[in-house]
Amino acid sequence: MSTNTIAAIATGMTNSGIGIIRISGEDSFSVIDRIYKSSLIGKSKVLSECSSHTVHYGYICDGDEVVDEVMVVLMRAPRSYTKEDTIEINCHGGVYVMDRVLQTVIKYGARPAEPGEFTKRAFLNGRIDLAQAESVIDVINSKNQYALQSSISQLRGFISEDVRRIRAELLHEIAYIESALDDPEHISLDGYREQLILTIDREMEQINRILQNSENGRMLKEGIRTVILGKPNAGKSSLLNRMAGEERAIVTDVAGTTRDTLEEAVSFYGFTLIIIDTAGIHDTEDKVEQIGIERARKAAESADLILYVMDSSTLPDENDREILELIQSRANDKNYIVLLNKSDLPSVTSLEDAEKFVCGHVISAETGEDISNFTGSPVISFSAETGEGFSELEKTIRSMLFHGKVQFNEEVYLTNMRQKTAIENAYHSLTLVKESIDRGMPEDFYSIDLMDAYESLGKVIGESVGDDLVNEIFSKFCMGK
Ligand code: GDP
Repeated sequence: MSTNTIAAIATGMTNSGIGIIRISGEDSFSVIDRIYKSSLIGKSKVLSECSSHTVHYGYICDGDEVVDEVMVVLMRAPRSYTKEDTIEINCHGGVYVMDRVLQTVIKYGARPAEPGEFTKRAFLNGRIDLAQAESVIDVINSKNQYALQSSISQLRGFISEDVRRIRAELLHEIAYIESALDDPEHISLDGYREQLILTIDREMEQINRILQNSENGRMLKEGIRTVILGKPNAGKSSLLNRMAGEERAIVTDVAGTTRDTLEEAVSFYGFTLIIIDTAGIHDTEDKVEQIGIERARKAAESADLILYVMDSSTLPDENDREILELIQSRANDKNYIVLLNKSDLPSVTSLEDAEKFVCGHVISAETGEDISNFTGSPVISFSAETGEGFSELEKTIRSMLFHGKVQFNEEVYLTNMRQKTAIENAYHSLTLVKESIDRGMPEDFYSIDLMDAYESLGKVIGESVGDDLVNEIFSKFCMGK
């Protein structure tokens, strides 16, 4: 039995129209030859003699027993996902029949694949790098358009490109230092420090950009942690229901992560909002209220976004003041949006009044003029009843949280902790290089930290230092040595 040829059910383990059994490895063709018949009477064709990238109708048989009627796709190395000989059997999509086909494939020479083994082979065989391999799982797990778009960009290698480019620059510097130290007669380090500082600053800026994007990535991938606040009857539940009930919205359960709050994922114009329910904030009994406010405060503290619902059909009251205080006293006091709800009713509080209320209505003692400086969060005229203001809310979320940057473009949002840590380490190593330069340390100190940065970045794409470094040093710089 072969151990190098793997097989697995590539489609979901539920009953569906079609199921795909994938086989990869050097014995793929001999396995399929043993179990495939193009015809149950007369002569059958032999798939190993057929051209690559062709599809064949026929049957999977275990000896005389016909297991299923199938279509078989042939892909010869290296033109396949794994770069190995690959066969895909399209069978009927029943759980039992898919398993029977898989068992037959295994009986005739393949072994069950481990999780992710096809992608691992694609990596080991050099078709994709590690960052790309990891993005495959992100593509599969994407829950909204932005997350998907970002994962696809990563799969296409955009992050790897950035990382490779930065690594190449660092390698160049390492090689230069090493060569100059080796051959001081021919290679001078005069004025090198100044130039190295410029290069490092440039690369650190690049790395920083990637890291900043990772925060966006988290929100796109996992959802924007959103807290809805507002006094009783302002319309919080109506807002949530409206969001969840809209045709464009899908509501799913998110396993509660804390004991006191419920979380609900709502899809909103392609974003996922994780709405954290802070029910209880407006209970009137003192003790309960305390707990409620404490809970809301906690949720608000860690929220990516706060939606503060005001009621335009009433005047702002003590409740509103208290909530506003809570919102504005947080460390991250910028990320809230005020929804002036019930715009369909005659207004008691106008948009202007609400803005003044939110920013603090400051009257100059000297001139009696209104000197409120409205730099606070946007106030949106809104109606949970009619849906007015929804698209403005979407636009505001987009510009507030992503600086207007979230688009269906090819920006990559780093979402993988392993990659993020590696990139952070690289950044740290570069700060050490700068420190060494500042302290006037000798050049060989720089190359240690430059090498650390280079190696850390290499981890992102799964490349270790090795021959590439050695070759670069000796081919480029050591002239005549
Ligand atoms: P909550 O206590 O903040 O959750 O407020 P609710 O969502 O329960 O709403 C309180 C009341 O206001 C309900 O009777 C809603 O139907 C009503 N309401 C909420 N939003 C609107 C709105 O935009 N327009 C109007 N006319 N009524 C609203």
